[in-house]
Amino acid sequence: AHVRELFAQVREAGRVELGEIEAREVMAAYGMRLPDSRLSRSPEEAAEIAKEIGFPVVMKISSPDILHKSDIGGVRVGIADPQAASDSYELIAYRARKFSPNARIWGVLVQEMARKGREVLVGVSRDPQFGALIGVGMGGIYVEVLKDVVFRLAPLSREEVREQLRAIRSFPLLQGVRGEQTADLEAVEDIVLRVSQLVSDFPEIVEMDINPLVVYNRGEGVIVLDARIILQ
Ligand code: ADP
Ligand code: MG
Repeated sequence: AHVRELFAQVREAGRVELGEIEAREVMAAYGMRLPDSRLSRSPEEAAEIAKEIGFPVVMKISSPDILHKSDIGGVRVGIADPQAASDSYELIAYRARKFSPNARIWGVLVQEMARKGREVLVGVSRDPQFGALIGVGMGGIYVEVLKDVVFRLAPLSREEVREQLRAIRSFPLLQGVRGEQTADLEAVEDIVLRVSQLVSDFPEIVEMDINPLVVYNRGEGVIVLDARIILQ
């Protein structure tokens, strides 16, 4: 019910794109783990929130009009103290005004910094004929340069998701190479299944992606660091 209301509000505002803040609410409603995160509206508030969350933090531009935040220098990681948090607010807001002058700026998101893990992307694009295609691949260069993504049609069963993951060429990176531990594959499968459920529940979702999903070693789970959703 909450997700339905949220989509209605986005539509009423004349938008089809959900920013990270809104997409986070949807992911949380589907039981996914997210970093602690709050919106700041001034440099002082950013420093206060960062203290509450605990250093180091990540800060990101929050705007319904800026979907690729890093492209405009809108993401800073490893912010270590209150002064750096308030400086980062100024810098990120400045870059947003400069590179995206017409964007509506909601503020700057202050977020718990997640520890490193393996980065995976889960994407959805809806084909008007066939339905929702769910793509899974390793993040970064594997997706952008090597196009190493495997697509399957929703709704997906656990077995189908298991097979989908193993069809990714860079799957050995998840399995662990050179003595590295195996990643938490079951937790990745859970996310793909939840995404499959979400897009089946809401046919109005035409596109979405979780990028990155950070995956830890077996038994340690996964965390959604960024998500976006586009409605019809
Ligand atoms: P965008 O994709 O819009 O450029 P992201 O939110 O994905 O912005 O952030 C860019 C990159 O910063 C991510 O791919 C990830 O590597 C890193 N990052 C983002 N949020 C966090 C976080 N909470 N903790 C650690 N690293 C993060
Ligand atoms: Mg991202």
